[in-house]
Formats: sequence, structure tokens, C-alpha cells
Amino acid sequence: MLGSKYVLGVTGIFMIFSSFLFITVVLNFLQIDFSELQDAIFFFLLLIDLSKAARLANFALNSCNEIEIKNNIAKGLSVLGPTITLDTAVETLVIGIGTLSGVPRLEILCYFACLSVIVNYIVFMTFYPSSLFLLLELSKGTSLKHQNISAIPFLESNEKTNPIVERVKIIMTICLLLIHLIIRQSFQRNVDFHMTIDKTLISSYIVITTYLSYLFNFCIDNVIVLILLLALVIKCLYFETIDNKLDVRRKLSSTNEVGVQVNCLDLTKITTNITKCIKTVDECVSISTKELDVDCLTDYEIIQLVLNKHIPVYQLESVVRDSKRAVMIRRQVFGKEERYKNIFRSLPVDNFDYDKVFGACCENVIGYIPIPLGIAGPIKINNHLYNIPMATTEGCLVASITRGCKALALNGVESKVVHDGMTRGPVVRFPSASRASVAMNWLQNRNNFNLLKQKFDSTSRYAQLIKLKPCIAGRYLFIRFVATTGDAMGMNMLSKGTEKSLKYLQERFLDMELLSLSGNFCTDKKPAYINWIEGRGKSVISEAIIQSTAVTSVLKTTVSAIVDVNISKNLIGSSMAGTIGGNNAHAANVVTAIFLATGQDPAQNVVSSNCITLVEPWGPKGEDLYISCTMPSLEVGTVGGGTILSAQGACLDMLGIKGGHTGQPGENSNQLARIICSTVLAGELSLLAALSAGHVVESHLKLNRSAMK
Ligand code: NAP
Repeated sequence: MLGSKYVLGVTGIFMIFSSFLFITVVLNFLQIDFSELQDAIFFFLLLIDLSKAARLANFALNSCNEIEIKNNIAKGLSVLGPTITLDTAVETLVIGIGTLSGVPRLEILCYFACLSVIVNYIVFMTFYPSSLFLLLELSKGTSLKHQNISAIPFLESNEKTNPIVERVKIIMTICLLLIHLIIRQSFQRNVDFHMTIDKTLISSYIVITTYLSYLFNFCIDNVIVLILLLALVIKCLYFETIDNKLDVRRKLSSTNEVGVQVNCLDLTKITTNITKCIKTVDECVSISTKELDVDCLTDYEIIQLVLNKHIPVYQLESVVRDSKRAVMIRRQVFGKEERYKNIFRSLPVDNFDYDKVFGACCENVIGYIPIPLGIAGPIKINNHLYNIPMATTEGCLVASITRGCKALALNGVESKVVHDGMTRGPVVRFPSASRASVAMNWLQNRNNFNLLKQKFDSTSRYAQLIKLKPCIAGRYLFIRFVATTGDAMGMNMLSKGTEKSLKYLQERFLDMELLSLSGNFCTDKKPAYINWIEGRGKSVISEAIIQSTAVTSVLKTTVSAIVDVNISKNLIGSSMAGTIGGNNAHAANVVTAIFLATGQDPAQNVVSSNCITLVEPWGPKGEDLYISCTMPSLEVGTVGGGTILSAQGACLDMLGIKGGHTGQPGENSNQLARIICSTVLAGELSLLAALSAGHVVESHLKLNRSAMK
């Protein structure tokens, strides 16, 4: 709150200073001697309207982030703008009457005053909002935190003027304009006007001032200065009261921060002009449950509802209908716990589109985890060059892949998708093994497959059932549904289609019991031979030939050394360890880094990293090196899941495969599979070379150890 106090003060000073600066520039431009205007400083202070500036600043202070500051300033301007425009017009025209008074000193002062009003208006509508935004941006750490009072109603209620008053102001403006026109025309006709002019307004003014002058034996100039001084005192007193109201409001907000429950009635006694005050928990409950409208509740009030278990913390997004606000409130709720107090400082929250996350990617969101994104390559795949985005915290990885790409530069990599089919494997049970075998036979009939396919395909524009693989275990029957899913990875699509097909199967087999839509026969996110043998998602192969010169100059080793390491490590070593699909050096490194960068399901790196790397001496004398990577189960997509997030979408865009392929659905996800498999190949090449030359420890100590101990 300290920050907010200073912000209000600083913005007020800024208003005065910038308006004064503008006026002096204009006076200079008009070559008017400023010393003639020494009394005008009262006029200037009298006419500079800081109340609206203070209100706009206070309104902006209620923002909790940069977007809200911008929106609140814009909203504040739209509320204050029309009133201040009309007020400026009226004020200018009223003061303008003084310029026709015939009293030279008064005329000069009135010209100056008109100028002050106009400049004040221009500054308020242009420089002031942008400077306010800048100031709040710079001071957001102190001034914006925990501003829990709902400011919009406050601002609007102060600014919503009576329509009759507005109409009177407009009529006044028109009348004053007419007076100005008429008087000025008659002035032109009669230059020697000032003592004889028979205009009621002006002559009455002169009569009053002359009378005062006579009465107090003052010169007319002194009377004017005295009037101005009095007006300034009145204005200061009035302005002070407005500030007091703002102060009370600020105090309310501070009270919120320390978490003291404040009684609404007591506060309304303090000032009747404050339209909103803190509601009791019971009032908040009735608003949130009965009226289903929490827009009028402050963050503090919603936090009280969460802490009192009236709103589940995971439901904040649907309750407040503003994803970012929900995240900020959730952070405050958890931040109340002592052990989390300092954690949120290091956990980023801004510059993230939470609307995309809610209902699609994550629940109970409190921010996001930044992971460094490196770029490897370029790598030539099927004659096209790609730079590969890789999100990782393993130093050395991107450098190593880039070295592999360099070794592949001459011939590039050839890559093919040889099979495509996502799977879902439910488990059903029958009263007996013989009944289960009847069902299994039924499923193996082509016509029956077509009946189920019809049901399955009806659930999506892209998913198409291509195979059923039944497998029996006693009276349990496992059915592996295999389908192409266009450019999506397809797990949700498979679940939807499988469920519909099973409903139809149940109608044919009334004694069939559906135990689980997923019977682990899929098999998702677990090592399984079925994926290694049958494939899952994309089955893809990449191959390349590396010239002997690249082996020695880039990889700093020999063909025979690489072949030797591959046989002993990837073939014999992996067999000895009993791996499933682990006949590779570090395919999972590349798969995971590209998965994270491109919005794939990170847990699917388990099955997707299945890979066998094979190398052979190549060419007539065996001086070159042949390498291939076979990956039977890459589960990837370019639509759905995390691919909808902006940063991940940008990485797919970098590869030219964002979203669904327009002409050939499935082609973008196939291309992603080819890119991943080829990058895996570059990684295999580089690590095998490093191992064969004994460089691994050296390079990891250099690039994979933090300098901070
Ligand atoms: P999805 O986002 O659930 O479905 C893809 C959506 O994109 C469908 O609505 C599809 O249309 C539409 N679409 C538009 N253009 C497309 C195109 N060119 N190709 C394919 N579809 C297109 O994505 P999903 O891949 O099925 O599921 C991925 C999500 O499932 C991920 O978030 C992942 O983490 C999660 N997941 C779920 C399970 C599970 O058991 N359910 C398991 C692992 C992962 P249609 O409506 O016409 O099909």
C-alpha cells in the first residue's frame, strides 16, 4: 500500500508539472512575457483538476498485473473521458467570458486560464495515462500486490453523473458558444467597446468588481487576485475531502492484506461515498451460490470463500470465469501457508495464456515451469533442412546432437514412416473361457470387424479403425483396437471410438462384462513388448551414410571403433540387461527434449523411446559408416494435447508442421515422427563416437556441471 500512496502523489505532481511545462512552452511560442502572469499561478493551481487524475491512478492501482493495469486505465478513461470533455468545454467557455471583460489584466488572466484548462485536458487524455502505466509497471512489485478492493464500481459510481446535469451542461455549452459568437462579432464592429458595451453578463461582472474595488479601496487587480486566492482555498479544502475518501478506501484494502474481517456496516459509517466494502463470508457465500455472480467479489473475499471451504480451490477457474485471476487467487491461497511464502517469488506466472490450459492441459494451475529451449541442427532430412527445438536441462545434449547433424551434413538422412496406428486395449470378462473364445472368433470375422469399425469411425472425422487384435486369458478377453488418428496423437480419440464399439459388442454379447476401457493391452506409458513388436503410433525408420572424412574430422573417431561400441553396448549390453526396446545409446534424451518443446505428452517418452540402432562399415573398403535407427512406437501429434499452447505451437511452426495438414491429414504428425527419428539418429551417432573416443566424461564435465556449487 505504501507504493500506492507514492504513486498517487507522483502522478499528481506529474500532472501539475507537465501541464505547467506545456503552458510555458505555448506562452514562449506566443512570445508572451511570463512575468506579466505572476498572479496567474493561482489560476493555474485553481484550474488544474487533480481529482480525476487521482481517481484514474487509484483505479489503475487496483490491478494485479500488467494486462489489468492496461485494461483498468482504458476502462477508467472511457468512464472519465466524456465527463471531463464536457467539463472542459463548459469551463473554457465560462472563463472565456472573462476575456471579453474589458479589464486588461483580467483578460490576460482569463486567456491564461483557458489555456490551462485545455492543456490540463490534453495532458489527462494523452500523456498522463501512458505515464501512469509506465509508473505502475515500474513499481508493480510494491504498489499492485494484494489490491483486493473492487475498483470498477467505485469509479463508475463517482463518475456516473445525473443525465439531467449532463443535459444542462450541454445546453450551457451551446448558450455560452452563442454568447461568445455574438459578443465577439459586436466587438469587431465596435473596437472601442470595453467601457460601453451593453452586455448583461460582462457589465454585471464589471459592476461587481468596481463596487468591490470602491468598497475596499483596492485596485481591480488586487480584487482579482483575492478572488483567486479564495477560490484556491475552497478548492484545496474540497480536494482534501476527496483524498480522505480515497485514503479510507486504501485503508480498507490494507485491512484486507492482514486478513482482518471487517464489518461492512462500520465502514459505511466512515464514508457514505464508498460504494463497495468488504463483505462478510456469509454475504459472499450468498453471492457466489445464489446469485452465481462473483464478479462483484474482491480477490480477498474469494480467498475467504476458498479458505472457508465454500469454493473448492480446483474450481476457481469456473467460479471466477477468468483463468489468470483464478491462478493468482490460487497462489494467494497457497501462499498463506508459511512454507510456501517465498516459493511463489521464483515461480513465474505472467505472460502465459491460462485460457488455453484450463480444461485441456492442466488443473489447479499456480504458474508454469520454464525449461531452457535449445536449437540443434541444421539436419538434412529427406533433402530438407531443419533446425530442431529441444527443451532440456541436460547440458551437452544440444551440442552433441548438433555435432551429429554436422557429421550427417553431406548426405543427410532418409526417413520413412512404415506403419501408423494408435491403440487402446480394453479388458472384458465372460462367464466362461468358452464364451470368451466365442466372442474372440466373432471379432476375427471380417464382416463383424466392419460393423465395429462403423461404430468406431462415427466418433471422429479423423479416427479410422484399421485392426482389432483379440487376446484371450481364461475368461478374460483383451481387445487391442488399432486406428489411424490423422494429425493427432490420438489417445482420446481411441478411447472415444473404443467405448462406442464396446457398447455395440455388449449388445451382441449380453453376458459380456466390461472391466476396464484400458486393460493395459494398449500399452500406454509402460514398457511392453507388444509395442516393440506390433508398433504403436508411428513406426519409423531413419538411415544415413557418413563419409570416412566426417567420421575422423567431425566425430574424431574411426568407423571400426563406432561399430565395436554399438555391438557391445546397444546389442549385447542391452540384451544382458533385458531391456525392452532399449537397443540404443540415448534415444530417450532426444525424444523427451523434442516432446517437451513441441507439446507432446511427456509421459509417452516411455514407449516412444523404443529404438534399435544399427551400424555397419560401408563402401567397397568399409571406410564409410552406415547407421539406422528403427523406432516402432513413436506416439506423436501436431494437434490436440499440449500442441495448443503458444510456445509449443511456435516450435511446431519452426518445423513447418503446426496443426493439422490441410491436404493430407496425418502428414504433419508423420513428418514430426521422421524429424524425431532422424534427430535420434544424429544423437546416436554423436554419443557412440564420443564413447568410442573416450570423450563423454570430459565433455559432460565441461558442459553439464553448474558453476554454482
Ligand atoms: P484430442 O485433442 O483429444 O483430439 C483431437 C481433436 O482434434 C479431435 O477433436 C479432432 O477432431 C480434432 N482434429 C482437428 N484436426 C485434426 C487432424 N488434422 N487430425 C486429427 N484430429 C484433428 O487429442 P488426442 O490426440 O486424441 O489426445 C491427446 C491428449 O490425450 C493429450 O492431452 C494426452 O495427454 C491425452 N492422453 C489421454 C489418454 C487417455 O487415456 N485418454 C492417455 C494418454 C494421453 P474429431 O473430434 O473429429 O476427432
